[in-house]
Amino acid sequence: MCGIVGYVGPRQSQSILLSGLARLEYRGYDSAGIAVIDGDGALDMRKRAGKLGVLREDLKGAPMPDGTTGIGHTRWATHGGPTDLNAHPHLADDDKLAVIHNGIIENFAALKADLLSEGYEFRSETDTEVAAVLLGREYREAGGDLGAAFRATVRQLEGAFTLLAVHQDHPGLVVGARRNSPLVIGLGDGENFLGSDVAAFVEHTRNALAIGQDEIVAITPEGVEVTDFDGNPVQPEPFEVTWDAAAAEKGGWPSFMAKEVSEEPEAVANTLRGRIQDGAVVIPELEGLDDLFAGLSRIVIIACGTAAYAGQVGKYALEQWARVPVDVELAHEFRYREPVIGPDTLIVSISQSGETMDTLMAVKYARERGAKTLSICNTQGATIPRESDAVVYTHAGPEVAVASTKAFVAQITAQYLLALHIGRIRGTVSAVEAAEHVRELEAIPGKIQRVLETEQAHIEQLAHWMADTRSVLFLGRNVGYPIALEGALKLKEISYIHAEGFAAGELKHGPIALVEPGQPVFVLVPSPRHSALLHAKVVSNIQEIQARGARVIVVAEEGDAAVLPFADEVLHIPLAGALFEPLLAVVPLHIFAMGLANARGLDVDQPRNLAKSVTVE
Ligand code: GLU
Repeated sequence: MCGIVGYVGPRQSQSILLSGLARLEYRGYDSAGIAVIDGDGALDMRKRAGKLGVLREDLKGAPMPDGTTGIGHTRWATHGGPTDLNAHPHLADDDKLAVIHNGIIENFAALKADLLSEGYEFRSETDTEVAAVLLGREYREAGGDLGAAFRATVRQLEGAFTLLAVHQDHPGLVVGARRNSPLVIGLGDGENFLGSDVAAFVEHTRNALAIGQDEIVAITPEGVEVTDFDGNPVQPEPFEVTWDAAAAEKGGWPSFMAKEVSEEPEAVANTLRGRIQDGAVVIPELEGLDDLFAGLSRIVIIACGTAAYAGQVGKYALEQWARVPVDVELAHEFRYREPVIGPDTLIVSISQSGETMDTLMAVKYARERGAKTLSICNTQGATIPRESDAVVYTHAGPEVAVASTKAFVAQITAQYLLALHIGRIRGTVSAVEAAEHVRELEAIPGKIQRVLETEQAHIEQLAHWMADTRSVLFLGRNVGYPIALEGALKLKEISYIHAEGFAAGELKHGPIALVEPGQPVFVLVPSPRHSALLHAKVVSNIQEIQARGARVIVVAEEGDAAVLPFADEVLHIPLAGALFEPLLAVVPLHIFAMGLANARGLDVDQPRNLAKSVTVE
């Protein structure tokens, strides 16, 4: 869950490591540290609990010698609290060796017991230090061959890890390994980089290499060598990073989240780009899979958090257009029972980072049982697409704020494209209908833009008034239901307010007991143009809660006069087809969550206890 960066080359490394970490800080941010082999050939290390700024200040106050080989880490603690001592790097071999780690070493207790019995000592409570001490021991046994020691070490580790190490006896060398955790290589001119993702080095190079599962990499200024855990050479896969460093900067916005909400129109447009030809959906990445789609008997969408809500929205389109039964499963629930899957099941995983450990494990589980896997992912070179049979990238650009916003609308868009693609192959949606849906999709960016322009100020005002609210409820029906869930999750994540999303029809089966005078309730109202019946039912729900004193905030399409008498506040969205309303209705909820967190003086980009990319189970 942490951020990892490594550098070798002609330049002094500290500022390169720190700026790489700044771009990765969304991955984890309870401690930070760097280790550098300085000009005199000595290993220097500094680490501090707290955000990256604490380490920066510390280095400013008491500078550390700089050097041209270094590694850096931001931590999201799993083993041992966020303290200076538990922060990475961890040192071994008489403090000549420094190790950083992302993930969890599951057999750390047994390894630690062995090492303790051999007389080795530990300074931290982390699993990582066990790997560092083990590497120190193997290094001695290998007679100072860092590569051999690294191979011997990783073969003994169980669990998930990206490990990087530097040793002061090997200036100009950074070694790394990965198993179930991310690591990519950046190729520079006379310099090379390692990073948890390309954001770590995109300001220096866009040429990258993906490292496969259970592989080891050694970078020097001159080159890159990749092997498997047994030392057999492996050819890493090159790719080019398609966004630039500026895309990951705040660009004048008060927060990454504000920037990313403002980019929701673009995220949808970019996900559509290049995938529509003459009104038809064309997804080049899915070429050759027609037989699979034609013969499908079931789709299982696997995801966690916001991505799972995007999946719940996608289910409506996949069932309606492709006529395949769809289940949406939380990844961590999926693989610990015995799901019925086989070669005619398509697993569609959704993960912004492509590194979500729960989702990755579920994908692997499904694959081993013969299911075909398709990944919807926003990050090039990530692990889940590499472990899948096919990938449809959302081209939402880098998402840095922990709470996902633009990736959510992009994930829905990608599923709609997929649903139309599969529907055409199966003959369940006609070319004319598909073209109509495509037109709707193409209009979405402009409509989201309108919501941002016309509603933002009103919603922020509303959030300001509600800063002291203790609980907010969200009601939605049909395709609005997952949007209610997403609205509630977003609020919990960044404003720490109790929030619940409910299916509006469920209200009378329990949740209405929560409604007391003054209780704020957001209600997503489906358009009466699509279903007068559904609309009428939701309007009845509004009356029911209003009669009990709720403060009703309605999200309804422009011109829906029927809701006005019962609403305390109305947030408008433009007219759209029934399945397209979620792409618009979620926008006010994202703005509201952000506004409320801001009104409460909270850090919307880095909420407490959370990390952007959940790379531990
Ligand atoms: N398990 C390690 C620790 O707790 C690494 C956590 C991380 O990925 O940041 O220190």
